[in-house]
Amino acid sequence: MNRSIMLENLSKDAIWDIVIIGGGATGVGCAIDAASRGYKTLLVEQYDFAKGTSSKSTKLVHGGVRYLEQGNINLVMEALRERGHLLKNAPHLTHVQPFVIPVYSLWEQLFYTIGLKIYDILSGTLSLGKTKMLSKKQTEQQIPFINTDKLYGGILYFDGQFDDSLLCIEMAETAVQQGATVLNYCKAINFVKDNEGKIIGVEVQDEINKISYQVKTKVVINATGVFTNAVMQLDDAHKHEFVSPSQGIHLVVNNKHFNGAAAMMIPKTSDGRVLFAVPWHNKVIIGTTDTPVNTIDIEPTPLKEEVDFILSHFNKYCNSSISRKDVLSVYVGLRPLVNNKKSKAKTAQLSRAHSLTVSDSGLITITGGKWTTYRSMAQDAVNNAVFVAKLERRKCITTNLSIDNLIARLEALNQLKITRPELADLIHPKYLFIKAEIIYAIKYQMAITLEDILARRIRLLFLDARIAIQVAPMVASIMAEELNKDEDWITDQVNSFNQLAKQYML
Ligand SMILES: Cc1cc2nc3c(=O)[nH]c(=O)nc-3n(C[C@H](O)[C@H](O)[C@H](O)COP(=O)(O)OP(=O)(O)OC[C@H]3O[C@@H](n4cnc5c(N)ncnc54)[C@H](O)[C@@H]3O)c2cc1C
Repeated sequence: MNRSIMLENLSKDAIWDIVIIGGGATGVGCAIDAASRGYKTLLVEQYDFAKGTSSKSTKLVHGGVRYLEQGNINLVMEALRERGHLLKNAPHLTHVQPFVIPVYSLWEQLFYTIGLKIYDILSGTLSLGKTKMLSKKQTEQQIPFINTDKLYGGILYFDGQFDDSLLCIEMAETAVQQGATVLNYCKAINFVKDNEGKIIGVEVQDEINKISYQVKTKVVINATGVFTNAVMQLDDAHKHEFVSPSQGIHLVVNNKHFNGAAAMMIPKTSDGRVLFAVPWHNKVIIGTTDTPVNTIDIEPTPLKEEVDFILSHFNKYCNSSISRKDVLSVYVGLRPLVNNKKSKAKTAQLSRAHSLTVSDSGLITITGGKWTTYRSMAQDAVNNAVFVAKLERRKCITTNLSIDNLIARLEALNQLKITRPELADLIHPKYLFIKAEIIYAIKYQMAITLEDILARRIRLLFLDARIAIQVAPMVASIMAEELNKDEDWITDQVNSFNQLAKQYML
């Protein structure tokens, strides 16, 4: 992926078949789908790919055990099917993850075992492994840190896990390989309409060069997550709020506080919430919360109550006494939950099924859903785009389309290490990331800022915010050399990165 080539494509006076606004899982999924069907596709993202919710998930490729409890069988079946496809299509960024639910009575054990057996059956041939009841001793073996006080036993089941922003970026690369033009740091700022009020173009602004372009298109897909309302209001100023944001936070701690290969899932804490502790890149992610919020911020901040909930409940279920000082990173995401004006349900009960709507002007808005279901959401959105724009109908081919640049990546990294041996050095002695990955991210993954590298291509900000701050000046210097930037650029980048990274520290 090369941004200059993408900008050249943008400035050609072409008519796009489909323009997609939003470079998270949903939008990038749409770009792959549309381009692989042979439609002339443009995607614009106002910040970096996956800068929004798509880098801040719990990192589970899952059917959603608790949606089963809510009786949402269709959503669970769709997600289980998509879980299976994603694990096959992107094997290097996903894996099967064992989970254990600790239980405190025989009744609880039977209840969850039956539920999880149904979960297995619903996944059919795409099942990841059989659910098993565990004795108290076996539960302790699987999750050694579990507090055994009043523990009855457990249930072992299997779901998927992944690296969200890395997948999103590889998906953007895949979209480009399929012929799409994708641009980060390019914001949709207005729609262009014909005399009948139909959308025929989008005004976009390249946020790096501060140049705006009017692009012509046959149809537009709005895949902007929690920013959906704002983009809908660009189309129709009187549009009601379609999406309600709900905030979820995660704490990342050292795996000395929770070791072993299995993750822990508490389906209902004493106050009725869900709690996960999931191993990830040799750390543990603990979360999440579900707090309705009114403001939409690209970098939301955790509430004290949310941090206290996670710390106190984790310490209650495990033999640990982690406190704020043990938290290596805290990250916060906003769920784009589809607003149902008639529903008085709490956000935790609002549907996670995706929602699609077409405005009078032809704007297709797709939102809600889950990371796991991005592919089927994209298929739905592109099918509707084809219908609205009366494009020639072509079959979706993404069910088995590989999202896998691993070999090309390894070859490029090796080449960099041969030509510049100093790039084989580690960025930090505690982490296996090497300096060549910085150059790779710039050359092939459209990384532009220091944050693009340390947050979404090398996940140091999410793994350990303090170490990310420590290495920031060195990483910025390597970037400056590659991008031909001066000392002022380095200072600016380091300052703004540090400001953000402080938000990830407690
Ligand atoms: C706490 C939490 C945990 C979760 N955990 C999981 C999980 O484990 N598994 C799972 O399957 N799902 C999970 N989800 C859900 C999943 O993360 C989201 O459904 C998914 O990331 C949404 O992707 P999106 O592309 O719709 O939105 P986003 O990722 O937010 O992308 C929208 C993009 O649109 C861009 N944009 C907005 N306006 C404009 C504009 N005018 N011009 C250009 N670009 C614009 C934004 O900058 C943003 O990057 C979780 C969600 C949360 C909040």
